[in-house]
Amino acid sequence: MKFSHKLLLWTTIIIALTLGFSGYYFVNYVFETSLEREVNQALDENSILRFAFETAALNVPVKYDLLQNSSVEQIASNLETSGQGTGRLLRISDEEKQTIYVSDGFETDDELLSVAEENQYSYRVIQSGDRYYIQTGSSVNALGRGLYLETLKDVSQVFEERETGFLVYRRLMILMLVLGIVVMYFISSGLTKPIRRLMRATREMAAGDYSYRAKQVSSDELGQLTQDFNHMSEALEQTIDQLEDEVQAREDFVGAFAHELKTPLTSIIGYADMLRSRKLDEEKSLLSANYIYTEGKRLEAMSLRLLDIIVTKKEGAKIQKVPVDSLFEYLRNMFLPNESMEFVFSYEQTYVLADASLIQTVLVNLLDNACKASDAGSRIEIGGYSQEDGYRFTVRDYGIGIPEEELSKITQAFYMVDKSRSRSRNGAGLGLALCTEILALHDSKLEIESTPGEGTSVGFLLLEAGKEAQHEAIHS
Ligand code: ATP
Ligand code: MG
Repeated sequence: MKFSHKLLLWTTIIIALTLGFSGYYFVNYVFETSLEREVNQALDENSILRFAFETAALNVPVKYDLLQNSSVEQIASNLETSGQGTGRLLRISDEEKQTIYVSDGFETDDELLSVAEENQYSYRVIQSGDRYYIQTGSSVNALGRGLYLETLKDVSQVFEERETGFLVYRRLMILMLVLGIVVMYFISSGLTKPIRRLMRATREMAAGDYSYRAKQVSSDELGQLTQDFNHMSEALEQTIDQLEDEVQAREDFVGAFAHELKTPLTSIIGYADMLRSRKLDEEKSLLSANYIYTEGKRLEAMSLRLLDIIVTKKEGAKIQKVPVDSLFEYLRNMFLPNESMEFVFSYEQTYVLADASLIQTVLVNLLDNACKASDAGSRIEIGGYSQEDGYRFTVRDYGIGIPEEELSKITQAFYMVDKSRSRSRNGAGLGLALCTEILALHDSKLEIESTPGEGTSVGFLLLEAGKEAQHEAIHS
């Protein structure tokens, strides 16, 4: 059952019960009050009749010591007729509870008479056919007689009024219930609107539409829930986008890897096949063996690079305080023997927080790229200087440069702007991917600026030892 229907059902039950009980109580209260008034009137009348009887008995001529039954009848008949028009009914009984006089229509049993006591008024409400009466009784002392006077008052009207009251109230209740149900239907469907919108949103999301948002229609708890749900959807959408990107990147990686494997393997297999199927002269055999060797070397370099990336990801970085000059000294020893380039080193001496061997790998890769992009004799500047937000390393070359649209792609594994040129220089397109992994472990990233034909500047920031506290404070 729908929540709004449950709400409607329970409200209807509560309204019906409340109206039912209060209506019953009200009509019954009015009835009880009216009946009490009628009882009091009946008792008053009985008392008046009793005095009237006793007074009339005093006026009977004193012929006998005792009041005779015929006199009693006479007085009772007078009393009955004196109340004509009011439907007065009475009965007089003697000491043995035998009826002396009874009005026509006074039809009832002797129950009240049998429990009658002297000097006491008593009454009861009785039903005779479809009529209701109040029967009253009292003892009368007249001229030595101990008689008993009973009256009967028709109160059917009060009972009819009660029935009419119930009938009117029932109709009123049905009307109010119908009205209540209509009003509650609109209220409950309005109240549950945010829930229906949320349900729709969850269904849309379950069907794969993560961009669907539930519209917020109120500012109460349900509105807050809608808002929170939308925040959750946003976070979920971002995570899923991210996961999709990662899956895509992984697929691209596998695709590129397979492709990069294929090229050297094709030449290795081709040359090996040539060597085993034909007898080649010495020069050709040497050439073939040389191709197999260089392509094998390229494969080896590629697998080592891949291994580097995997190991870096797995083992992380051991961050230490590293003197900057030790890094530059390492580069100088490695590259200065290469006299085909003009290397210019300029740096400020300080300490950085880094994993020395990993940062050496980054710098070697950047310098290697700079060399590969430059013509012989070109100038390559390697710099390091302190900045407010850390220590910046830069490698600047005046080589071929990188087109702007390629800048975002060159850090992807196996991506090479000019494949044949890179391959001819033993490139596998993995160097910058490795640098990106290493710098991510240092909370840093590559910043590449390049103008095709003019050259490229690649830099990155590292935390400077002693300044890290200040740095943290700036970023927090
Ligand atoms: P590997 O580093 O694996 O030996 P690679 O140098 O080709 O091979 P990356 O270092 O990842 O691979 O560089 C990717 C590509 O970016 C290069 O192939 C090259 O096209 C371009 N590139 C990188 N650095 C420079 C640079 N300084 N000048 C011009 N192009 C560059
Ligand atoms: Mg490289």
